[in-house]
Amino acid sequence: MTEVSVAKEDQAATGDLVVLKNVNKHFGALHVLQDIDLTIARGEVVVVIGPSGSGKSTLCRTINRLETTDSGEITIDGKPLPQEGKELARLRADVGMVFQSFNLFSHKTVLENVTLGQVKVRKAEKKKAEENARALLDRVGVGQQADKYPAQLSGGQQQRVAIARALAMDPKVMLFDEPTSALDPEMINEVLEVMQQLARDGMTMIVVTHEMGFARSAANRVVFMADGRIVEEAAPDQFFSNPRSDRAKDFLSKIL
Ligand code: ADP
Ligand code: MG
Repeated sequence: MTEVSVAKEDQAATGDLVVLKNVNKHFGALHVLQDIDLTIARGEVVVVIGPSGSGKSTLCRTINRLETTDSGEITIDGKPLPQEGKELARLRADVGMVFQSFNLFSHKTVLENVTLGQVKVRKAEKKKAEENARALLDRVGVGQQADKYPAQLSGGQQQRVAIARALAMDPKVMLFDEPTSALDPEMINEVLEVMQQLARDGMTMIVVTHEMGFARSAANRVVFMADGRIVEEAAPDQFFSNPRSDRAKDFLSKIL
């Protein structure tokens, strides 16, 4: 994680970080991802929205290979993502993921949760990993909770720990799949604020969310999915004020 915050425009100029070309995926007879073409520039924040079942989670899961694909190509920072093997573990570590359910290790402390992957996957020294973990926990505002267990934290705090844990792997891109959907309303903002700050710091982010305020203020681009396809892509202002497709108009009329 770079400490220096670089203007988004400067980072975008340095090239494409995540590229999906003609990606297809089936679950049995269900064609869940259909000819997906998506390019995400370094430092770009892309918000993915769309009706339930449109394939948003599957899209995220293919980008860090929790799911295989049937055809097409995914590259992360110029390197093709293999379907399996040793190389996959290393490339996958470049893709941080935060889920709706916080997925912390319940029998490990907060500090251990954020230290573990650094030592096991990134081969960091334990002391260095702990220092890094404490700095990251401070950064997301839960430094005081380091020695507690996840169950002793609020949902908002747990989700911020999950973000710190993903950041600890020093990922090139962060995926968020409805990170605030399981939270009580009063905890949503504390998580969105951490994500806003991350975006301002220049992190490349793909965010599936129903938080349209976040999309308007943090996204460079909105990607609208329906029935396994990318139906529409636009800058947030344009998308929200003047959606082109009937599917997007219909969707927005239900949620706004
Ligand atoms: P979204 O996140 O947009 O709600 P998902 O990507 O979770 O959509 O799901 C897209 C479709 O794929 C849905 O119809 C869902 O039921 C189906 N699906 C998701 N995961 C699986 C799976 N492991 N096996 C079979 N069908 C699945
Ligand atoms: Mg989903």
